[in-house]
Amino acid sequence: MVAEVIVDIAHSEVDRVFDYLCGDEVCAGMRVTVPFARSVTTGIVMRVKEESELPPEKLKKIIRVLDELPALNAECLALAEKLARRYRCPKALVLRLFLPAEMRTGKVSERVKSVASLEGDIGLIPPRAKRQRELAEFLSARGEADLTALREEFGSAVKGLEERGMLHIEKRRVFRDPYERLQKSAPLRPLTPAQEDAVHTIERTQKTVTLIHGVTGSGKTEIYLTLIAHALEAGKSAIFLVPEISLTPQMFAQLRARFRMSCAILHSGLSAGERFDEWERLRSGEAKIAIGARSAVFAPLENIGVIVIDEEHDGSYSSESSPRYNTFDIAYLRAKHNGCKLVLGSATPSVETYRRAKEGEFELITLPERINRRPMPEVHLVDMRREVKRGNPSPFSAALRERLETCLEKGDQAILFLNRRGYSQTVICRDCGYVAKCEHCDVSLTYHSEENCLKCHYCGTKYHMLSACPECGGVHINYVGTGTQRVERELKKLYPEARILRMDNDTTSGKEGHLKILQRFAAKEADILVGTQMVAKGHDFPNVTLVGILDADMSLHFPDYRSGERTFQLVTQVAGRSGRAENRGEVVLQTYDPDNYILRFAASYDYEGFYEHEVGMRAAMAFPPFARIVRVMVTAEEDKLALAALKAVYEKLQRVYAEESEKFLFFNKMHAPVKRIQNKFRYQVLMRLTDGSPLPRIYEIAAEENTKEVLVYVEENPGNLS
Ligand code: ADP
Ligand code: ZN
Repeated sequence: MVAEVIVDIAHSEVDRVFDYLCGDEVCAGMRVTVPFARSVTTGIVMRVKEESELPPEKLKKIIRVLDELPALNAECLALAEKLARRYRCPKALVLRLFLPAEMRTGKVSERVKSVASLEGDIGLIPPRAKRQRELAEFLSARGEADLTALREEFGSAVKGLEERGMLHIEKRRVFRDPYERLQKSAPLRPLTPAQEDAVHTIERTQKTVTLIHGVTGSGKTEIYLTLIAHALEAGKSAIFLVPEISLTPQMFAQLRARFRMSCAILHSGLSAGERFDEWERLRSGEAKIAIGARSAVFAPLENIGVIVIDEEHDGSYSSESSPRYNTFDIAYLRAKHNGCKLVLGSATPSVETYRRAKEGEFELITLPERINRRPMPEVHLVDMRREVKRGNPSPFSAALRERLETCLEKGDQAILFLNRRGYSQTVICRDCGYVAKCEHCDVSLTYHSEENCLKCHYCGTKYHMLSACPECGGVHINYVGTGTQRVERELKKLYPEARILRMDNDTTSGKEGHLKILQRFAAKEADILVGTQMVAKGHDFPNVTLVGILDADMSLHFPDYRSGERTFQLVTQVAGRSGRAENRGEVVLQTYDPDNYILRFAASYDYEGFYEHEVGMRAAMAFPPFARIVRVMVTAEEDKLALAALKAVYEKLQRVYAEESEKFLFFNKMHAPVKRIQNKFRYQVLMRLTDGSPLPRIYEIAAEENTKEVLVYVEENPGNLS
């Protein structure tokens, strides 16, 4: 037999299959090690065939077969081929998407545990050995138990019983269960009529894709879980995708309680071993539900019954490294292949998705009310210009402070949202106007009070805080623009009694960093949670009755066609954290631009109004979804090389432009808005296209010019145009 192998080297020169001799235990999708260019490398078997076109004496043998079961099933192999073609990137790179990273490095091992059971007659234990008798009784009732747990519970009695020869101990392979300790029992509630209808509509529609547009707290999660349960009952599997940040302990507890070990959770907060085990349980078919952030869309599942993408508008569904895939596209291909439904859910769908639903391409379900008709929190718009005039320089308006005090008195909890981490956005010399900038990036530095340093938020470099201006020697250094650290400090000054937690990139590093903070807040260990957009996503804290949005304008002024949409989404999502249980919630929305239509629509929960306005504007400006923004990025450490590559790319693209100029609404080359990041100079060719037909050629040109020194890549409707 002969195996066609793609070696795990992501280089265009070896981007083709190589033939190797193999035994009949080898099938497509298995990982193997093979001799390659005088060394040994791993690879994936794409196909097995009877014979090669090469003479047998030219063929080398596979050294080792690394899998008993294929790591990629037939569907995944075909999908990988398709993606490699679509994004013009080496197959090796695409195949990596389907494997947990720890599998490539081969650094994880199986874990075993010891299980104990009782051997012999309890009557043989003398009555004075009371603990040993209790242990024996426990075991005879339970059958068997984990040895470590027994030692914790029964201490030396375990040893005693073992010495009597009455303890049978056995080692077993176990799958690490990262959320063991979170297991709770699941309250199975009957669906509300609206939820019931939604489930029926989705299961009966002829359309592959359904969008659930349901306000925050309308019970979307329960709909997803019911659909997943139905898939399981039908003997099928399911994929449940959520933004990374929504992978909270609450979410896990709910899922584990409901589906026990038939769900596998893939999450970057897990240890390598845990993630590997979860993946392995999916591949072996022991677990049938894959839950995770975008990469879980590549889960090794067969016979998929439903795919869910929660918070479909979330930016984390677009990959930012090659291949720059969009999760929806992959999910759609898998849904089509498996003949199953793809369900999207959001309180604030992206304009593009909503348009497709309204035009009838997707089924649309609207849930305009919260569960039990709980009212949406009332939103108070506060004009911060008037606060400044009144002589209030703090980040909190009088209206917010008043409500915060009431909230604290009642023993409720509050969330304060500010989309800027650090202490101040930057530092400026008051005498000469000098702004501290990063040496490696074309951006200003952020002051961090806890470490008393300046940090670059693009590359992470830290700098000493200035004691004097390096330009003019002046000592009047101003802190400009409030960040979460400053908010926390001011709060502590104002309310010394209040317990405050802060959640931003600086407090959430490490394993389960943000999970721990959310858990503590859920356990009412704090009164106020201050944070960046991390606090906005899908959390369900019943005691939160006040949400403060400190600077609603911040994301409005991004140089990006989606900044309005993003602001609407953020404000709605954060506001949705308030008043989710019995007590009515309130939201204070602080802005310097109270007449802004986005904020007005958000304050009145008027998604339709927002959508109509936004879509009208996009149509007039020919922005997505009425056009496609395509950007070819060219970056290199050497400016000259980058510029030369930019020129080459541009010239080739000009040929496409000349042939299909009617498809181009805009076509130009320029500096990227941030000219340098991590020492790399950045240029772009920016295009707006009426449709995607020139894309294959654009991808091809980028692939041709991409070299070791100069990175050239294509972005479609990028979430971030910096
Ligand atoms: P969404 O995902 O739409 O924001 P959730 O699914 O989090 O909403 O539901 C909001 C709240 O309503 C949660 O506290 C949830 O436990 C509760 N809930 C959901 N469905 C039901 C139901 N059928 N009966 C009672 N409570 C429900
Ligand atoms: Zn930097």
